[in-house]
Amino acid sequence: MPPVRLKINVRGIVQGVGFRPFVYNLAERLSLAGHILNNRLGVTIEIEGSEGNCRKFLDGLKNEPPPLSRISDIETQAVAVEGGTGFKILHSRSEGDGIALISPDNDVCPNCARELLDENDRRYRYPFINCTDCGPRYSIIEGTPYDRPMTSMSVFPMCEKCLAEYGNVRDRRFHAQPNACPACGPSVKLLDGEGRELESTDPIADAAGHIIEGKIVAIKGIGGYHLACDATNEKTVNELRARKVRKEKPFAVMSPDVKTVEGYAIVNRQEDILLKSREKPIVLLRKNGAERLAPSIAPGLNEYGVFLPYTPLHHLLFSFNGMATALVMTSGNVSDEPIVFDDAQLAERLGGIADFFLINNRRIVWRCDDSVVRARGDETMILRRSRGWVPAPIFADKKSPPMLACGGDLKSVFCLAKGNTIFPGPHIGDLEHAEAFDSYRKSIEHFQSIFRIKPELVVVDKHPRYFSSRYGRELGLPTVEVQHHHAHIASVMLENRIEEKVIGLALDGTGYGDDGTIWGGELLVCDFENCERKFHFPPLKLPGGDMAVKEPWRTATALLYDIYGENILDAHPRFVAEVGEKKIRNLIMMIKADVNCPVATSAGRFFDAVSSLLLVRHYNSYDGQAPILLESFADRSETVCEGFSINAEGAIDFRELVVKLVEYANGADAAKGASIFHNTIAKALAACCIAIKKETGIAKVCLGGGTFQNGLLLEQLIPELQREGFALFMPKQLPINDGGLSVGQMAVALARV
Ligand code: ZN
Ligand code: ZN
Ligand code: FE
Repeated sequence: MPPVRLKINVRGIVQGVGFRPFVYNLAERLSLAGHILNNRLGVTIEIEGSEGNCRKFLDGLKNEPPPLSRISDIETQAVAVEGGTGFKILHSRSEGDGIALISPDNDVCPNCARELLDENDRRYRYPFINCTDCGPRYSIIEGTPYDRPMTSMSVFPMCEKCLAEYGNVRDRRFHAQPNACPACGPSVKLLDGEGRELESTDPIADAAGHIIEGKIVAIKGIGGYHLACDATNEKTVNELRARKVRKEKPFAVMSPDVKTVEGYAIVNRQEDILLKSREKPIVLLRKNGAERLAPSIAPGLNEYGVFLPYTPLHHLLFSFNGMATALVMTSGNVSDEPIVFDDAQLAERLGGIADFFLINNRRIVWRCDDSVVRARGDETMILRRSRGWVPAPIFADKKSPPMLACGGDLKSVFCLAKGNTIFPGPHIGDLEHAEAFDSYRKSIEHFQSIFRIKPELVVVDKHPRYFSSRYGRELGLPTVEVQHHHAHIASVMLENRIEEKVIGLALDGTGYGDDGTIWGGELLVCDFENCERKFHFPPLKLPGGDMAVKEPWRTATALLYDIYGENILDAHPRFVAEVGEKKIRNLIMMIKADVNCPVATSAGRFFDAVSSLLLVRHYNSYDGQAPILLESFADRSETVCEGFSINAEGAIDFRELVVKLVEYANGADAAKGASIFHNTIAKALAACCIAIKKETGIAKVCLGGGTFQNGLLLEQLIPELQREGFALFMPKQLPINDGGLSVGQMAVALARV
């Protein structure tokens, strides 16, 4: 049999993940000649040998690639036989205008985790141990091609031993750019609360000791600083809340393994997979009732946010005797500001919060928050897509010109796209913080530079005053405006590869509507290009505007006033007693005079109002608290649906329901009321879908918007729609909240240009 020669182009995340040594070893094993080189698109391989071995090579490529690689495409073509022996790794080539993909930051691999605790290993207890299968990537990259000089490791010249590993194609640290050891790599230091360095032979052991004693330690991680403390120590957790000015928003906790997690939370099969996954996200888990953690970790909620150790340092912390079973590991910041990642800001921003600082001299170039997910059956809902995912792309069917979609202002995520590759950016947070907006701007520039995408088109939310929209409009490029809820649904369509018209259920807090009012409870019929509003939540007054978002009793009063007029005081005595008669009287005056009472058809605001009138929560101390507590509070026993109707303008009228809820609240049966409320909303949404289907024949339903983070609502709605023969679609890799907006904006713009 004559030899054959194949040229193979592999695209995807294949650089900086041990792909070349893998290919080298595979080719050697099969006695194939040829070479491999990195290029701007991925890698190009040429192999020459018997046809059978070439086929085996291709099988190996597809079936056993290195763990961190993500192959998106393999293209093979036969070329002329050249002869020659041996397989070579050639120098990278960086011409062309393709896009080289960059790996996200990774958790410690099992091999490194084992070496870390092996007394005989030269990296025993070294907190920066890594290899081609693990370690930081995105957060240390300053530019491309991804090579050590282009990372924050450039200031650590490798020692002889490390260099030998780095250069040896048979070593698992071959071309591992962050490769380091205690002799040549970064090191940790412990500082006191004032930022003075403390004498210490083992700073990690000392930091662990302080945590065990009940102190708060700021720890430099992969994408930023965490504030760590004993999650079972109520006094310490409260102290952290006071210092961080974070009243009740839940803290994420880290435990050493799933077995320990099961001591305080229920872990099902899918959740187990998510906890152990390479991305190591924060997984939302139901409390198991025992409440073995400090009560103020997640007050009023029936869930904890839990993740497992993902840096070598985390593993070391849990290796000390007496260490708590769970540690608070919350973003190092004050209140809702972006996470601190820059050492220069440490004293200014975290001084006064942490008692100690465990720092190191490996610079974090890019901030990247922990990601948050929830299991839903066998599936995953990504609520925040950041560390572990960013900057991995998602792929679309349609090709796009180079473009930037700016996203929204809350839970802000931009995306850059070119060809059929879309790069969603990291979670940035609320752009109203100057620091966050700065990070937003810089991250966009960084993405443009590392992926070499120069946008020719910008897409923004229609909102006239969004910071993100203003930023986009001021770039001086052709700009497309996309309505907020249309973008929510388009994002789900793109991910599920749907082209035709769908019914879109977009339920969220607020978005700028086509008519200039605030929307947020919208039933749409749309494809990528067009969007028509069919039904919506009832218009609700928001007395005090933004104040009404923070204080749900205001929207509750507006809702009650709409039904009872000034008789609220008699109709709902418990509500009046809890909130205060005088405050309600004053607000009624404001509502009557229609002063500062914008109107919204927002589902989020409606859930707020109901949470307050069911006496669950009158004030939000964090975004979405009232609805989240309402969900927690529902007894889930009741499947009754109380009345709703749909008026001529397409508004769903829930007044009958509200009257019933007021009765439940005054009859001390609010938990039942909360269940009935969720059921009724689900029934009403289903009824609207049925009406649309009758009119249009459309039977595909896409769900978008932050309100669908409500598990109870989904539990009620999904079977309801399935029973009626609807096919349901939700996001797969993107958040259902505003974090998924930018991809939807892009999809709409693409259909329109
Ligand atoms: Zn490793
Ligand atoms: Zn070394
Ligand atoms: Fe939204």
